[in-house]
Amino acid sequence: MIVAMDKWTVARTLDEIAQYIELSDPNPFRARAFEKAARKVETLEADLGDLVKRGELSSVSGIGKATGAIIEEIVNTGQSRYLDELREQYPPGIFDLLRVPALGLKKIGVLFSELGVSDLETLEQAAREGRVAKLKGFGAKTQQKILEGIEVARNRTSKHLLTFGLHAGETLREQLASIDVIEDAEVTGSVRRRLEVIQNVNIAVAARDPKKAIAAIKKRKLLDAIEELDENTLRGTGREDVVVFIHIVTPENFGSCVLVTTGSREFVEGFLAHGKLTKARTEHDLFEKNGIAFVEPELREDAAPLKKKKRVTLIQPTDLRGTFHIHTTYSDGRHSVLQMLEEARERGFEYAGLSDHSQAAFYARGLKPDDLKRQHAEIDRASEEVAPLRVFRGTEADILNDGAIDYGAKILSKFDFVIASIHSRFGMEKDEMTDRILRALDDPHVTFLGHATGRKLLVRDGYTFEFDKIFDRCAERGVMIEINGNPYRLDLDWRHVRRAIDRGVGFSIHPDAHSTREMSHVISGTWVARKAGLTAKQIFNTKPVDEVAEYLAARRKRALAAG
Ligand SMILES: [Zn+2]
Ligand SMILES: [Zn+2]
Repeated sequence: MIVAMDKWTVARTLDEIAQYIELSDPNPFRARAFEKAARKVETLEADLGDLVKRGELSSVSGIGKATGAIIEEIVNTGQSRYLDELREQYPPGIFDLLRVPALGLKKIGVLFSELGVSDLETLEQAAREGRVAKLKGFGAKTQQKILEGIEVARNRTSKHLLTFGLHAGETLREQLASIDVIEDAEVTGSVRRRLEVIQNVNIAVAARDPKKAIAAIKKRKLLDAIEELDENTLRGTGREDVVVFIHIVTPENFGSCVLVTTGSREFVEGFLAHGKLTKARTEHDLFEKNGIAFVEPELREDAAPLKKKKRVTLIQPTDLRGTFHIHTTYSDGRHSVLQMLEEARERGFEYAGLSDHSQAAFYARGLKPDDLKRQHAEIDRASEEVAPLRVFRGTEADILNDGAIDYGAKILSKFDFVIASIHSRFGMEKDEMTDRILRALDDPHVTFLGHATGRKLLVRDGYTFEFDKIFDRCAERGVMIEINGNPYRLDLDWRHVRRAIDRGVGFSIHPDAHSTREMSHVISGTWVARKAGLTAKQIFNTKPVDEVAEYLAARRKRALAAG
């Protein structure tokens, strides 16, 4: 049986074999032979499968007998028994030790065979006990360096917010693009897929002469601890110790490089099941040459979108015509009513909904009924100044412990919209929390459910409740769930947004802005919506102002009638 193995997968397998050999074999030539064969395979013009079929592999210079036999096996069976054997001899995480700057494959091999070191923990233990220094070719100095390196390695596994990764990536991309031997650069990896938490930054670079490009990048010192992983890959650390990978290829391989380094692994494998990594200067070209309709990077967590016949146009920031959930100095915001409204108008919005905290949120200086009167008068005055921007008067009202909405019906009925949010007793039991939110959703004044899970990325998990019950009640009561665009929240999570949409829930993208600058959180909000696969039509605040005003007025009327 012929399994269609692309040359990149074959090359990766050869590289992995080379790494294992280097762990154990003092003769450097064997490992080099596999590396050389891998590079040869990557640059082959002819189809690898055809070469194998015709028995012409051995005529290719750089591919010897031993390497040729293994390539043939990979092409024919999709795997290498030799690699499987090698894998069995070592612990699975052995190559993670490469993150320690002082360590190369040879040293890692010695540490494993002499001391049984298999990961950072066992390495640290051995070094602290002085056992590393006693090894031949190591010594006290190296041992000390390794201990320091373990700290670096640990930092390298650290996680970062997407917004940080995006900024770090884009900054670096611009710097790289300004180097004269570099023709193109693009941020790829999980940042391009807009994953909410990222572990590293990847950048694909196109250069006619990758060697020259690598030398130029190193000279610029754009990263700390920069090192060459192979002739196409640099690794270094950027701000806050974020790990950065730079992948350098020739322009005709740029499209493939962007696709492969964007990932995810499942998506790339899915792509290769239908297509090939042919020469293409852009990723769009690559899709086109393979007759595969383009899949937006945000949707590439798995291969499923490749199978869909129709592609949808995902929502874009420019689709938003207005927004809600804006704080002012009346509660815990930094800018005045007028300043926030001016910012909304400058962003080209047709409408803006102000919503300061309610009285129960005392820590956030929630508004008492008297404050509300003053604020409403001020909003009326400011509204005239920011015309034609339409201003909606709202509140972010606390969902109290028993599920009642702060303020009560009489005051709530004065607002154009109400965002109901939980700001207390996050630790409630799941059932109790579910009941609490369900009761809140039953209040007819509630327009939106605010930051539904209360999570703070990299800080705390959200509270637990039964998602489907809440989604069904939202759909039933016509309460929309907000997509809170604060980069720490990005709440509701895109995975759940998809699920909720299927159950008929409406969504609206809000910045939860506490300053004019934070109005840009509407943009991070679109990351979530795009990752959930939403179109502009599926988001409430892409609607024109008249439609929105009408909807809110009708809902308010219904709430009044319900008392
Ligand atoms: Zn809130
Ligand atoms: Zn808020």
